[in-house]
Amino acid sequence: RAKQEGRNRYQFFSADIEEKLLAKQLLERHMREALEKGRYEVFYQPKVNAETGIIVGAEALVRWRNTDGELVPPIRFIPLAEETGLIVPIGEMVLRQACDHARFWAEQGSPIVVSVNISAQQFEVESFADIVAAVLAQTGVEPQQIELEITEGVLAKDQVQARNTLIALRQIGVGIAVDDFGTGYSSLAYLKRFPINVLKIDQGFVRDMLTDASDAAIITAIIHLAHSLHLDLVAEGVEEEEQARRLLAQGCKVMQGYLYSQPVPFLQMSHLLVSGLGASASPSQADA
Ligand code: C2E
Ligand code: MG
Ligand code: MG
Ligand code: MG
Repeated sequence: RAKQEGRNRYQFFSADIEEKLLAKQLLERHMREALEKGRYEVFYQPKVNAETGIIVGAEALVRWRNTDGELVPPIRFIPLAEETGLIVPIGEMVLRQACDHARFWAEQGSPIVVSVNISAQQFEVESFADIVAAVLAQTGVEPQQIELEITEGVLAKDQVQARNTLIALRQIGVGIAVDDFGTGYSSLAYLKRFPINVLKIDQGFVRDMLTDASDAAIITAIIHLAHSLHLDLVAEGVEEEEQARRLLAQGCKVMQGYLYSQPVPFLQMSHLLVSGLGASASPSQADA
C-alpha cells in the first residue's frame, strides 16, 4: 500500500514537472513570436527633480502586449528571457526604441536622459559596447541622453570584462547607473574601480524608510556615499510625500515612483514632457 502511494505521489510529481516544462516551452515560443511581430512595448516612468517638479529623465520599462491585448509585466517573462538568451534581442529592441524616443523628445525641446535596463547576458556579449554605439548612430540620439542601468551582480562576475565594457561605454558617452543599489553581493570597492555615474537607491529601502530605522540609516549612508564619490542619485519607488521630503532634506533630489507617475506609454510620456506632472510633483512646494 505504501509502495502504491509512493508511486502515485511520484507520478503526480512528475506530471507536475512536465506541465511546468510544457508551460515554459509555450511561453518561450510566444516570446519569440512576440519579438518577430513587434509585440513588446516600452513604457516610461518619469524621474523627477523633487525640488522643482521638473521631469529630468525617464526609465524605459518593457511590457509585452499579448494576443488578447493584455499587458504582461516584465516579472512574468524577463526571467525566462534571461534563461533562454532571448533577453539579448529583446533588450536590443528596447534600447533601439528608447534611443528613438529620446531623440524625438530632444527634437521636441525636452532632451531628458532615458535609462535602459541591461541584463547580465546582454552586458556579457563581447560586442555589447559596439552594439550600443551602432544603435546610437542609427537612431541619431546624443549619447549623453542615454543611461544604462546595470545591477551589482553584473559587476561581480567577470571584473576585467566588466571594467573594459564600462570604459568603452563611457568613451561612447552614455551614462552608467547601478540599479537596486544596496541589495547586491559585490563589494563597495567596485564604486572606485568602475566608471559609474549614478546610484539608484533600491525601492525596498524607500518603502520602509518611514517605519524602519535600519532602512532609513542605509538610505542616509547611500546618500553620503554618493555625495562623497560625486555620484548622482535616484530614489526608486517613492510613493509618499513624506518619503520625498526626507530624501530631499538629505540631498537626494531625483525621484522615481508612483507619487509622481506610473510607467506610461510613449505618447503619454510625450504629453507629460509638454504639460508637466502637475501639483503632486513638488512636495517641497506643496508644503510651503
Ligand atoms: P527596476 O529596473 O528596478 O524597475 C523599477 C520597477 O519598480 C518597475 O517595475 C516600476 O514599474 C516599479 N515601480 C516604479 N515606481 C514604483 C513605486 O512607487 N512603487 C512600487 N511598488 N513599484 C514601483 P516593472 O516595470 O514591473 O519592472 C520590473 C523589473 O523588470 C525592473 O526593475 C527591471 O529589473 C526589469 N525590467 C523591466 N524592463 C526591462 C528591460 O527592458 N530589460 C531588462 N533587462 N529588464 C527589465
Ligand atoms: Mg531599472
Ligand atoms: Mg530598481
Ligand atoms: Mg530590479
